[in-house]
Amino acid sequence: MAHDIAALKARLAGIALEDNPALVRQKSRDFFWYSPTLKRQLDTVAGEIIATPSSEGEVLRILEACFALGIPVTPRGAGTGNYGQAMPLAGGLVLDMSGLDKVLEVAPGRVRAQAGAIIADIDTACRSSGQEVRLHPSTYRTASIGGFIAGGSGGVGSITWGGLRDLGNIIRLRIATLEATPRLLELSGEEVEKVAHAYGTNGIILEVEMPLAPAYDWIEAIIGFEDLNRAAAFANALGEQDAILKKLLSVIAAPLPQDYFLRHRKYLPAGQHVVLAMIAPIASAAFDSFTARWGGNVLFHSDRAGTEEARGLPPLYELAWNHTTLRALRVDPAITYLQTLYPFPDQLALVARIHEELGDEVPAHLEFVRFDGKITCFGLPLVRFTDEARLEAIIARHEALGIPVFNPHRYTLEEGGMKQTDAVQLAFKRETDPAGLLNPGKMIAWENPDFDFATGRTYLFPGLSAQA
Ligand code: FAD
Repeated sequence: MAHDIAALKARLAGIALEDNPALVRQKSRDFFWYSPTLKRQLDTVAGEIIATPSSEGEVLRILEACFALGIPVTPRGAGTGNYGQAMPLAGGLVLDMSGLDKVLEVAPGRVRAQAGAIIADIDTACRSSGQEVRLHPSTYRTASIGGFIAGGSGGVGSITWGGLRDLGNIIRLRIATLEATPRLLELSGEEVEKVAHAYGTNGIILEVEMPLAPAYDWIEAIIGFEDLNRAAAFANALGEQDAILKKLLSVIAAPLPQDYFLRHRKYLPAGQHVVLAMIAPIASAAFDSFTARWGGNVLFHSDRAGTEEARGLPPLYELAWNHTTLRALRVDPAITYLQTLYPFPDQLALVARIHEELGDEVPAHLEFVRFDGKITCFGLPLVRFTDEARLEAIIARHEALGIPVFNPHRYTLEEGGMKQTDAVQLAFKRETDPAGLLNPGKMIAWENPDFDFATGRTYLFPGLSAQA
């Protein structure tokens, strides 16, 4: 496990390095602790040194030195991933990309930025031209664009634009390989899928080009319903209203909003299941009419709340996506969650079925999105955790009903996704990382090509037990 860090430091003179064990440990962690399973498995994981390059040239020097010395490299944006994606399972160097944080160019319909740029900073730079980013995670204010592309999937904006997996939501990526002489590659069209959501296992993203949309000062509204299925049906129908422009459409079952949205509490009467909506101001009157037709209770509306009152409230998207889980965890550390998809066209029936069966053990949280052109929803249901065996049983029950689970309690790409090899990403890794030094332990197809997902066994990266 121990690598020749002294030799590495000698080669990297002039680049910002940190090997104080406490600081290295801090930057070797992400939000893996959302999962009790990952907390048990990964709590002792730490790299040996952090490098914070401030230019592409410095990144290339680091990669060349690590290849020569056989030192693993785990890229890190802001460390907000939830599955230990940015945690160095085999030790080695953590490549902190936060020094490559510049917005390089804003043009009609597109923005070019360095990978370590914070998404909110990119968005702010675009707004002076009347444009905004199409999609962002609810970690808008903290996450890097490179980390979102390598580790995330979608979020605020996905109700209109779909996810990062959809062709056209990433225009171009510039990446570096990990070889004797690292190469720079430009990927566009479907080539971006080679490294999007590959956890940095097959290239370091240096620069991104992303498409933009017209910017709005989005109205934030919370609509209440006495019945969860009615709230879900309203959100689904509102999702289908293409002329009412939206950026967020979430459904959160009572009593979660009342128990966990502490700063919005006075707007949230007991028993109300809520729909969170971000609506373009030009569609405000249409949204009011649509809500009235459905008999929704307008519990909060940012245009009608007093300025004093609205000040101090977090943005609505910080109640949604994985911020819902975070708010629950702050009140009740025993909470965990799942990530599910309710496939079109049965989404509403599947939501009703699973939540009727699992009740308050697995309270509902839905995020409506455009998926392959159709409106449907993902679930980020909370789970009142008892033990890992029960968690696995809850997952199995979802899958038996035809609700795929993207398991957030696994650190590998395959087990967190569709439980099969992504042949394109694997083939690309052979070209870009021939020694297997990029974020080891995250791609089972590379580490153990014979691993059999059908056994239901969990993959354990051998390097992990060496660290424990
Ligand atoms: P990190 O966590 O630092 O890295 C993520 C992955 O990308 C790691 O595998 C890392 O090795 C790799 N990586 C980072 N930078 C590079 C690079 N330059 N080149 C190659 N690989 C790289 N995710 C969503 O998709 N949607 C959400 O709405 C959402 N909401 C969240 C809410 C909360 C409260 C939290 C804690 C997490 C949420 N996430 C969400 C997960 C996470 O925030 C996103 O994935 C985020 O975009 C990650 O960005 P980051 O800069 O923190 O990346």
